[in-house]
Amino acid sequence: MGLKKLYGVIGDPIAHSLSPAMHNEELEKLGIDAYYHPFHVKGKDLPKAIEGMKVLGVEGFNITIPHKTDVMPLLDEVDPLAKRIGAVNTVVSNNGKYIGYNTDGQGFIDAVKEEWEVFPASGRTLIIGAGGAARAIYYTLISSGLTQVDICNRTLSRAEELIGSHQTNADSQALTLKEAESELGRYSLLIQTTSIGMGDSEGMSPIMLQNMQQNCFVADIIYTPWKTAFLEQAAAGGAKIQNGIGMLVHQGALAFEKWTGISPDTDRMKKTVMERLGGITC
Ligand code: NAP
Repeated sequence: MGLKKLYGVIGDPIAHSLSPAMHNEELEKLGIDAYYHPFHVKGKDLPKAIEGMKVLGVEGFNITIPHKTDVMPLLDEVDPLAKRIGAVNTVVSNNGKYIGYNTDGQGFIDAVKEEWEVFPASGRTLIIGAGGAARAIYYTLISSGLTQVDICNRTLSRAEELIGSHQTNADSQALTLKEAESELGRYSLLIQTTSIGMGDSEGMSPIMLQNMQQNCFVADIIYTPWKTAFLEQAAAGGAKIQNGIGMLVHQGALAFEKWTGISPDTDRMKKTVMERLGGITC
């Protein structure tokens, strides 16, 4: 019998992470002799932690806040899309070499496709926010062939930088939050990626949606609370809505597949996550 394989997630904090439950359930259900462990690693210890993972033969791991960028120079290779995004969330061991990937953007796209069969529909896409998650989603959408993807952000210069740093033929525009509110009728897909709506800002929304198209698809990548004020507004306006659980599950499923070569059951992963979040069912 071979050694049990070890996977995991590195972050600070890490105790709240839903990934161990999601991955361990799948490893067990699929009969894979492996275990996924949460590792609490502070920034100053990251180089030693990566070296230690390698020496101990950890087969693959996820990287979460705040290490997604700092881990990049510590890896043997970084995939071109992750390089462009400037962040790695998944590391795979390939003959002892650690290769970094970013599955956040594709995880988001896979989640939307599951709920919105017409994706990518005609019409423009608007990303609200220009932080790390927005970067992953923007670059992956553009790399997958979408051309009309605009970004609005509280700090306009960050949206401009994000668009400007990606040399493509994409027809993207940077907008202020106010401009986006008045231009909403142009968009068939809205993607909320700011942290507004969770924690201290629960009940708040980064923009008002009065001008939204009625048949719009509206995604919020937050999943606690289950339905943000932004999604409440969108649903009241007649839109089809989706929260951040789908992205969480699908970015994890893509990592799982890279490590094991096996596609996990994303419905079961979703169920595991929802149970951990308090037994909410769809
Ligand atoms: P980040 O890099 O810190 O970016 C935060 C974004 O929120 C920026 O665009 C920022 O605008 C905006 N923002 C913050 N406070 C604001 C305010 N008071 N008013 C307006 N805008 C404000 O964070 P991130 O890593 O992108 O994460 C963003 C959210 O996505 C978090 O809630 C995180 O939990 C969630 N997330 C979910 C998943 C998933 O799998 N579902 C994955 C990754 C992240 P400025 O540029 O103006 O500061």
